[in-house]
Amino acid sequence: MQTQIVGPAFFLNPSWKEYLLDYVSSNLNSSTLLRMFKKILWFLLLIVVGLAGMIILNTVRFSHPIPTRQSLEIPPINDSAIRHLSEAVRIKTISYADSLPIDTAEYIKFGKFLEKAYPLVHQKLPRKIFNQFSYLYSWQGKNQNLQPYIIMAHMDVVPVEEATVARWTVPPFSGALKDSMIWGRGVVDDKGCVITILEAVENLLRQQFQPERTIYLSFGHDEEISGSHGAKSIADWFKENNIHPALVIDEGGEISNEQFPTLRRPIAAIGVAEKGYLSFTFSVEKEGGHSSIPEQETSIDILSKALVNLRKKQMPFHVTAPIAELLNRIAPGLSFYQRMALANPWLFKSSIQRNFEKDHVTNSLFHTTIVPTIVNSGIKDNVIPSVATAIVNARSLPGDSEANVISFMKNQINDARVRIVPEKTNKEASPTTAINSPAFRKIEELSYKIMPEVIPVPYLLLGGTDSYDFNQVSDGVIKFAPSIDAKGYHGIDERLPISDFRRMIFFYSLLVRESGK
Ligand SMILES: [Zn+2]
Repeated sequence: MQTQIVGPAFFLNPSWKEYLLDYVSSNLNSSTLLRMFKKILWFLLLIVVGLAGMIILNTVRFSHPIPTRQSLEIPPINDSAIRHLSEAVRIKTISYADSLPIDTAEYIKFGKFLEKAYPLVHQKLPRKIFNQFSYLYSWQGKNQNLQPYIIMAHMDVVPVEEATVARWTVPPFSGALKDSMIWGRGVVDDKGCVITILEAVENLLRQQFQPERTIYLSFGHDEEISGSHGAKSIADWFKENNIHPALVIDEGGEISNEQFPTLRRPIAAIGVAEKGYLSFTFSVEKEGGHSSIPEQETSIDILSKALVNLRKKQMPFHVTAPIAELLNRIAPGLSFYQRMALANPWLFKSSIQRNFEKDHVTNSLFHTTIVPTIVNSGIKDNVIPSVATAIVNARSLPGDSEANVISFMKNQINDARVRIVPEKTNKEASPTTAINSPAFRKIEELSYKIMPEVIPVPYLLLGGTDSYDFNQVSDGVIKFAPSIDAKGYHGIDERLPISDFRRMIFFYSLLVRESGK
């Protein structure tokens, strides 16, 4: 009988397979082999059971019912409120493009309309005017020790494309009332907010109400073209006067039944941050010439290749703090499999990631997105141009800076002939308002009152709002208005159900009434 093999010999011997066979045939009879096999099986089984137990335990921890709170009954509104929104829609306060002039007569008309529709607001609340058309009203509170609130909205709207007018159910600037909805450009974005804020305040003034803390109403006139004359000037005024509001609330997130249909409950997506807005000019210069004798590579070729390479890969998948908390709050209401995946990210990370990346909207919540939006080159069909340029627009997650984006793009393109110049107006992602801040808690609490069964969650805005500039004076910036899955903004058939319109008035009214709590 041979001696038992020892480790080093096993490794040193070049023909280890022979050794092993030799060992098995001489050292082990079939019953010891079976015993060893059984031991290994038991060991593997133990690991599997342990892992399964851990997965199930984590999943069960996620399975508690999501709390509900009693909502309040939404009071009826005056017919005049609906008429006011219709009238507001009929005034064409349109922001065309940064470089195009606005129709100032319409903005003057809008100011006059507000004065007429809301006489008490204009009698009792001092108004400051910024750059002719943006307004800041201040409503003195009883307690000057409390930091004020700012309630915001914007009065301008995007244009309606000429080619789409015929596809609207009603003329886009009619403000028509049809099927219990108010229709027209701006009813959602964002005249609906302007009017519901003012309706709430006018009603409270009629009841001789005075808020506990000072409330500012801030209405910008150029949000759709960056807000640099309206909201930015108003935010600067707060900074100059050293006023630091506890809460700044603007448009942004809303109530949604559609985002997570398997929940079978609405969420209130309370915006606590917005993604950055970064644009870059890519340019390639290379001597052109006659198109009958092209060189191997032209400026257009180099730029095209760069853009293709740029789009081959995304910046890293990243779960930001608001989205992590959102998933945490809704997970208990999802299906068993979804819950199991979210409760065990250590195991299911890649499947979670693949799932979110399938849809271009959810994908944008987890990635800094980068996409070319304008390409320019050439003047004539038989001339090879010597310059080719593109504008590339990135929307950056909190945590991905402009410098990160540039270095990612350079890496992807890997061609020094492509020059990348960032725009001077670039905005990094906003700071994130903490979910334990009094501002978030206040809006969370109000969302329970205005919507039965609601699950309030923090949310990251993919687009930009006027409230961005207020981060310099407040750490309580919130982006939320309680419409439900609003339809048609920036598109066709923009419409706001009257039920949403009523809920919005009630929401702003509660916000003012309970400002001292
Ligand atoms: Zn808007």
